Amino acid sequence: MQIVRVALDVPLHRFFDYLAPAGDVLTAADIGLRVRVPFGRQAKIGVVVDLPEHSDFAPEQLKSVEAVLRDLPPLPADWFRLCEFCAAYYQAPLGEVMISTLPAGLRRIDPPKARAARRVAKTPAKQTPPELTHEQLTALERIASDDEQNGGFRAYLLHGVTGSGKTEVYLRLVERALAAGRQVLLLVPEINLTPQLEARVAARFPDAGLTSLHSELTEAARTRNWRAALDGSARIVLGTRLAIFTPLPDLGLIVVDEEHDASFKQQDGMRYSARDVAVFRARERGIPIVLGSATPSLESWANATDTRTPARYTLLTLRERAVTNARLPAVQRIDTRLEKLQDGLSGVLLRALGQRLERGEQSLVFLNRRGYAPVLTCTACGWISRCQRCAANLVLHLADGRLRCHHCGFECRVPRACPTCGNQDIQPFGRGTQRIEAVLAERFPQARILRVDRDSAKSRKQWEALVEQIHDGAADILVGTQMLAKGHDFPKLTLVGALGADAALFASDWRAPERLFAQLMQVAGRAGRAELPGEVLIQTQFPEHPLYAALVRHDYPAFADAQLKEREQAGFPPYAYQAMLRAEAPQLADSLAFLTTARAWPEASAYADVMLYDPVPMRMARRANFERAQLLIESPSRRALQHFLADWGELLATIKAPSRLRWHLEVDPLEF
Ligand code: ADP
Ligand code: ZN
Ligand code: ZN
Repeated sequence: MQIVRVALDVPLHRFFDYLAPAGDVLTAADIGLRVRVPFGRQAKIGVVVDLPEHSDFAPEQLKSVEAVLRDLPPLPADWFRLCEFCAAYYQAPLGEVMISTLPAGLRRIDPPKARAARRVAKTPAKQTPPELTHEQLTALERIASDDEQNGGFRAYLLHGVTGSGKTEVYLRLVERALAAGRQVLLLVPEINLTPQLEARVAARFPDAGLTSLHSELTEAARTRNWRAALDGSARIVLGTRLAIFTPLPDLGLIVVDEEHDASFKQQDGMRYSARDVAVFRARERGIPIVLGSATPSLESWANATDTRTPARYTLLTLRERAVTNARLPAVQRIDTRLEKLQDGLSGVLLRALGQRLERGEQSLVFLNRRGYAPVLTCTACGWISRCQRCAANLVLHLADGRLRCHHCGFECRVPRACPTCGNQDIQPFGRGTQRIEAVLAERFPQARILRVDRDSAKSRKQWEALVEQIHDGAADILVGTQMLAKGHDFPKLTLVGALGADAALFASDWRAPERLFAQLMQVAGRAGRAELPGEVLIQTQFPEHPLYAALVRHDYPAFADAQLKEREQAGFPPYAYQAMLRAEAPQLADSLAFLTTARAWPEASAYADVMLYDPVPMRMARRANFERAQLLIESPSRRALQHFLADWGELLATIKAPSRLRWHLEVDPLEF
């Protein structure tokens, strides 16, 4: 009787043994095939991980596999190792990792009939590549010569200012890999960025079977594209973070664009960083990986520049914009202590907006806060619009007359009068994009104003329509959140005004300055990309702050080095490794009690170099009626932390907790 060991999507750190179905003998070549097996009273899809000689269970206790699914080639061995790494590193059950990274269509017992016809993509006219700039050439030659000399794994940090032609470097690398018969994986942080890059890649490599993978594809399309990657017909896979788990038998190059972007971090289930997993995958496969950004994450920057340890990444730099005569925009600070703001806007910015209107150029007003106002208040009794379920305010959305919680999704109609005292004069406090839009409409009645935020661009379709409008010059002034800051080329845009940036300078999250700098640098990068020079105006009460000073000089290295020095002194990442245990329950006491029990594990003191902090309520303690608390674990050594977590994880699973308590462990948390 042949034993088949199967990985299943269950939250247990073990596999399950079955007997081979009658009349079917599996061979080692079948490891990695999907199988349908009985589990409890249902059936499940699993993956064959082994054909062991013995089972811990007697044969009569084992059930039989119902069917071996041979519609796909087996999942390759390096895909197994990738899942194993993630399960171990992120403390997740291996079976869950393996099955949950398959597209839904391949996990289902009764998959819908695959449509036979494959939508034939328009083949764009083949585009001729530009002649490389000196800096692009230097970067490429470095990677090529490393590859010819040693081959194998190497990580590159391509630090290039916005518009320096990083994408062109990626395209040349893709060309090399394709010519060598390899597959390429291109990761981008956001679905919104895929169409642009997709168009450029498709135009350059019309025959490479470019395929995309992201969460907005239909189940059928995702399954089809994933399958094409596995069977090798897709030579280029372009996708968001989930695409890092695509099996690619001939993988020869990984590119992670905008590598600093927080969207690479998965925020539920297995909380992985696709960028970090990508580096592991490249190392494991022995191939080059290129991480590109104008504002690299401080982790990557430290890896590429720390001179005390042998640099782990090779730094490649593009200092100049690629298009001849395109210069970086002039960045100016507007001291809002000296100048009284009118509805949140300074006279300097208003005049600059007026000038652009006269010249027929585009402007962008950047404010990272959507809605009309962050809160509604009663001036008579002090009532403010609080969310009943969260420790947060309800945001006023005047466009559709709603109050909304941005944390739990609760919403209600805007009250006509104060709910506590009946006063009719209730006032919005503070400003969001909708309010700035309204203010601008009043000031510039002749201007065509377009608001771009998650409310106006809910779907990819809406987003694409907005981008098209901007490109066609159908808008004079854009009002937008960070959505607009990323990777877009708007040729007529010559002015960017940034509002409300100061809030991040003194936020309690010590990563806030890093994010602010990246956002402002990216948004500044939108101005003046073609022949028209750009100008950036930042309204601030702290013009002498070093962050803004570095920004004015476009000096990312100065900013990054200063931040790293602070991090080192404070003992923060990347000079320490962290994990966070979080618990949430209807009662805060239950959440804290769970963490206290976890912390009290007597063996914990036996782990040198691992520090467990006290359990504390989270900064926003209540969300959607759950009270949340967290416990930080820290170590100067990644290995020591991993060793501890592996043992501690087993203990956590045995802690008795109230039924409504939920907990998770996050490795390398980004938010606190
Ligand atoms: P990045 O990704 O660094 O922001 P892109 O790759 O999008 O920059 O390039 C910015 C602009 O410069 C694009 O319009 C691109 O076509 C152009 N470009 C890139 N490389 C060159 C080159 N070598 N010569 C001329 N134009 C180039
Ligand atoms: Zn009132
Ligand atoms: Zn809420």
